[in-house]
Amino acid sequence: MLNPDRVKLARMRLGLTKVGFAEKLDVDRKTINRLESGDTEPSEPLMQKLVKVTKYEPHFFSGKSLEQPDADGVSFRSMRSVTQKSRDAAIAAAAFGYALDDWVTARFNRPTSDLPDLGLADYSAETAAMALRMEWGIGNRPINHMINLLESHGVRVFALAEQTRHLDAYSFWRDDTPYVFLNSGTSCERSRFDAAHELGHLVMHRKEGARHHSAEHEANAFASAFLMPEADVIAQVPRISTLQSLIAQKKRWKVSVAALVYRLNKLGRMSERQYRHFSILLSQSGYRNDEPEPAEREQSQIWQKVFSHLWRQGITRAHIAREIGVPESEIHNLLHGITGRAPPSVDGTGMATIRLVDNLGAI
Ligand SMILES: [Zn+2]
Repeated sequence: MLNPDRVKLARMRLGLTKVGFAEKLDVDRKTINRLESGDTEPSEPLMQKLVKVTKYEPHFFSGKSLEQPDADGVSFRSMRSVTQKSRDAAIAAAAFGYALDDWVTARFNRPTSDLPDLGLADYSAETAAMALRMEWGIGNRPINHMINLLESHGVRVFALAEQTRHLDAYSFWRDDTPYVFLNSGTSCERSRFDAAHELGHLVMHRKEGARHHSAEHEANAFASAFLMPEADVIAQVPRISTLQSLIAQKKRWKVSVAALVYRLNKLGRMSERQYRHFSILLSQSGYRNDEPEPAEREQSQIWQKVFSHLWRQGITRAHIAREIGVPESEIHNLLHGITGRAPPSVDGTGMATIRLVDNLGAI
């Protein structure tokens, strides 16, 4: 039996409207309406077309309905530039993320969220960033690894797949569990800023959502302050000299040189004239899009441990894909670029406990 929800999910994942989907399948729009409302079972040739266009196996379309995030609760980075189709694709990817996450939750103990709701206090983004640093015991130290930090505080981190490549990041709450999706096609510095930006949404905009006009600005200000605490920046950059020295200095916080220049100006350490000068230099040198001397991209320690543990038990991604009714290619997309091949250290039998290295010097 065809599950109409699955047809709609596949269409959303492809980022297609009903009209676009109908064109791809070479049918009229009414047929799509009937398929998505469950009024008809597809003919054999139509089923074959569905499989060909979506590249999903036939059994995908008879799987159970998957929970999806509520579109209103999702913060899309650079939301204004994100089309409805991209949002649909991202939400469908998140539905696959939920299914994978639930499967893992049933087998592994991972940290639960301790993210405070800072939206309750009337904090500025700067104050919220410092409040979170204090609460998590980070003080003014640089953050060595954003993904580990998020995961150690119970945030579920996934990669953004290729269909949604022009989307940088998004996040949302699912009951008491926060989720962050990060584009794995960007520089390490950009991805860390995106992660901090989404963290800002999660702690500042949990109740109200991220749709109000100042939400993006607040999340950016939060990210800037969270990654580059004022006291540390002032201590480490006593005076501004050359772009080359700023490129060396940005490595301390693993931020883009453009983000450091912006922060220095915001903190009053760089005059407007200097700021204009460096802004022009950054544009001329192409450093806005092509980060100079980039850091190595971050990998998820938790996902590496989970999959290494499963691999030792002989459980592959293909096995999980079959069990949760999600295409293996989509599981690959959810983890693309955030799972490396670091050697695991896991417990023996039963529920595996994932322990993160809680070294405060290297968060
Ligand atoms: Zn945002």
